[in-house]
Amino acid sequence: MNKNGNIGVTSENIFPIIKKFLYSDHEIFLRELVSNAVDATQKLKTLASVGEFKGELGDLTVRIKFDENTITISDRGIGMTAEEIDKYINQIAFSGAEEFVKKYKNNDAAAIIGHFGLGFYSSFMVSKKVEIITKSYQEGAQAMKWSCDGTPTYTMEECEKEDRGTDIILYIDDENKDFLNEQKISGLLTKYCRFLPVPIAFGKKKEWKDGKYVDTDEDNIINDTHPAWVRKPSELKEEDYKKFYQDLYPMSDEPLFWIHLNVDYPFHLTGILYFPRIKNNIDLQRNKIQLYCNQVFVTDSVEGIVPEFLTLLHGVIDSPDIPLNVSRSYLQSDQNVKKISSHITKKVADRLEEIFKNDRKQFEEKWDYLKLFIQYGMLTDEKFYDRASKFALVKDVDGKYYTLEEYKTLIKDNQTDKDGTLVYLYTTNKDEQYSYIQAAKDKGYSVLIMNGQLDVHAIGQFEQKLEKTRFVRVDSDTIDRLIAKEDANQISLSEEQREALQEIFKSQMPKLEKAEFMVTLEALGEHTNPVVLTQSEYMRRMREMSAMQPGMAFYGEMPDSYNLVLNTDHALVQDILAGEEAACSEKLQPIQADMKGWKARQADLREAQNKKKADEITEAEKEDMTNTNKKIADLREEINHILDEYAGGNKKVSQLIDLALLSNGMLKGEALSNFIKRSVEMIH
Ligand code: ADP
Repeated sequence: MNKNGNIGVTSENIFPIIKKFLYSDHEIFLRELVSNAVDATQKLKTLASVGEFKGELGDLTVRIKFDENTITISDRGIGMTAEEIDKYINQIAFSGAEEFVKKYKNNDAAAIIGHFGLGFYSSFMVSKKVEIITKSYQEGAQAMKWSCDGTPTYTMEECEKEDRGTDIILYIDDENKDFLNEQKISGLLTKYCRFLPVPIAFGKKKEWKDGKYVDTDEDNIINDTHPAWVRKPSELKEEDYKKFYQDLYPMSDEPLFWIHLNVDYPFHLTGILYFPRIKNNIDLQRNKIQLYCNQVFVTDSVEGIVPEFLTLLHGVIDSPDIPLNVSRSYLQSDQNVKKISSHITKKVADRLEEIFKNDRKQFEEKWDYLKLFIQYGMLTDEKFYDRASKFALVKDVDGKYYTLEEYKTLIKDNQTDKDGTLVYLYTTNKDEQYSYIQAAKDKGYSVLIMNGQLDVHAIGQFEQKLEKTRFVRVDSDTIDRLIAKEDANQISLSEEQREALQEIFKSQMPKLEKAEFMVTLEALGEHTNPVVLTQSEYMRRMREMSAMQPGMAFYGEMPDSYNLVLNTDHALVQDILAGEEAACSEKLQPIQADMKGWKARQADLREAQNKKKADEITEAEKEDMTNTNKKIADLREEINHILDEYAGGNKKVSQLIDLALLSNGMLKGEALSNFIKRSVEMIH
């Protein structure tokens, strides 16, 4: 039966599509043709197993060969009869091709090919002519040769073929000659066909003989037909999982642990997911999961198929139920994909919980590598948060690990403040914040280490989720105020004395571009440090978040704001105040007396004006107020000038400020060198 004809109904449209629009991804032709060969082989095996094929299966290896002009893919599968060629190859029945092409112009080839079931026709992306020589497995079948040169016409004629099965011969066109290369083909086979379930031979194994490589008789099989994920977990040992990981990612660190996925219902899913050791950079580790469809490699970008945080895992997912050749946005709304995604999330949480429950020691040992992954999951996936909050750990400065529940129990009694808020203390740097940690420990408080990339976000989340809970960094205030137990001790200083102390220190604070200093007074007890430098928790957190989130640049621009707390109970601070009074009171007293008078006047004016409506206040009254304010400001300036002069000549003030800066790691360069010089002088 010879037959010539036109391919399909709207076939004119196919070749332009293939040639023009499918160009980007054209290497997938090999994947398509080899998978067809594998399918044909698997079908024959199935027929044999149900007794419909009674002949010898024999060697079922799929072979790939090439020469200067052609690539040939041969199988010993079911083959095709003339009718089947007609039905499966010639009648490419689809409608609206043109419309589709317009719509998907920019889509990738895989999407279009998949949409039309054009696997076989992808061969025309690289070929000027394609031949099919095929003989059906059915008894007495006539071998057929089909040939098409890239126009919508084909020829089909009877031919001789000894063996059942199919040879697809591609006459590679001029633009694609680079595919006629051993390395190139071998690379593509490794990428797409490495785990196909039927042996794939590409040429022969080579051996070194007489100074060069020569072919042996043995087939060069490029694939592993039984990769670990298709085997039963009970057949596999720990080494097998580790070895498979090394096969997938040569030269990688050993994984922490893994999950073997195996679902039959309501969707099919197999695979092995590995937890890698994640140290720091989230992005570096992404896109390591490989997606397969019945052991055919499809892609290694699985966003949209698994929740974002799971893309940090490594390994293989294999499912024929993930619609592969559709857009990502479509994928996300696909019911199967949703089910698969939540199944995987659940399995991951289960596995972590299982290790946590059965082997807490191992879990703690690995926590530092797992932390980023788990936090990422908790921050981006509500369901995962609910699961993971049972086993997520926090670590204190002594390296002890607690679950959130355990930690709460630990600190509940001692670290609840007078308003009933539970205060979690943390440090981001054990060394830099040493003295603050020490101060907390002296009170019997516990301090957590929160120095991870996502900790600032995790803290925000905990504060939202845990009731009446506040996280504060140990250096964000004096310890008594971080966890305020009762109202703070009263400072027994007059207003003038307070103002004097504040001005003395404020005037000597360094002028830094990116930092702003305030001076406050507190009665911290005579045995606590005379000065402490603290940094507002809120502002610091905003800045840290702004570094990671667009749209918060405003906070990033703000200077760091620090608070120098003077301990009015400390002898040194009192000494400085006494020194100031001895040195300045003579000069200050008359000004202060004057000031008192003006302040009283200011208060009177204010009271009088407060009683009136804005439009009832006369010009004269307004002027009076302005003058009074100005007078007060002038006097203030005079006072400050006297105080600044005193402060400038007082080494103790500078020394205390520098000590506070030093204990925050903020004393550097010239300031540090001045400090050292001054210290030496003072010791003398
Ligand atoms: P798909 O594989 O998605 O069905 P293809 O265009 O790749 O689409 O193939 C169309 C049909 O041609 C296949 O379903 C199969 O019936 C037949 N076919 C393709 N290649 C072979 C082969 N090597 N052996 C037997 N049949 C084949």
